[in-house]
This record gives sequence, C-alpha cells and structure tokens, in this order.
Amino acid sequence: MATGRRVLVAEDNDANYVLVQAVLRKLGCEVLRATTGEEAIAAATSGLPDLVYMDIQLPPPNGLEVTRRLRSNQTTRDIPIVALTAQAMVGDQEGALAAGCDAYLTKPVSMQLLEETTERFLNKPGRENSGS
Ligand code: MN
Repeated sequence: MATGRRVLVAEDNDANYVLVQAVLRKLGCEVLRATTGEEAIAAATSGLPDLVYMDIQLPPPNGLEVTRRLRSNQTTRDIPIVALTAQAMVGDQEGALAAGCDAYLTKPVSMQLLEETTERFLNKPGRENSGS
C-alpha cells in the first residue's frame, strides 16, 4: 500500500485524471492535480510529492520541459517522475526519458499498470538513502 504518500498528477485531460486519481485514492495516496506545466512546477515545488505522473502533452510548458526544470531544481530533482505519453506522438517516450523521467506509461493506461507502477515507485528507497 501507499497510504499517506503524496502524488502529483499533471494532466489536463479530465477523463485521464479521473482514472489516475481513482487508482491513487484506492491505494491511500493524497492526490494533487495540476492542469498546466506552470501549475505542475508550482505544485511540485510547494507540495514536494513522493511521485509525479506527468502528461507530456500539457499546456505550457509541456511535460518534457516541466521535467527538465524539476530535475534542475535542488528540492525536486530526486522526485520520481512517470511520464504519461500518447501513443500517437512519435518520440514522446524517448523524449520523456531524455528529459529525466524515470519511466513512461502509454495512454490509455490500465488501472492495473497504474497500481503496479505506483507501488513500485513509492515502495522503493529514495535515491538519497540508497547508498547507505
Ligand atoms: Mn494532455
């Protein structure tokens, strides 16, 4: 379970957001939402989530740019980011990893895959602790 963990969902599409939110709530997570890149940067910086789901096709700045900015900020650089990529957008997946995302899921995403991915990232030790 992931009870009490905070997850930011940067997703402008309501239907996609509702699906991700349902899975996170079921797991006991606190859910933050952003609908634009600017909101995502602000929410990640102030909320310091344990995990971010990042839509790549996001109102500006897009998910790739948001990821790059979070990776270059001392306070957000170690937060795991899982990209949500649209199958039709060639290059999204490679771009997501190059920008610093830890993984990507192709939309439409199944609830089971979201659950597995969430638990995988929330249950593994943070990078700060992994060397001790
Ligand atoms: Mn979108």
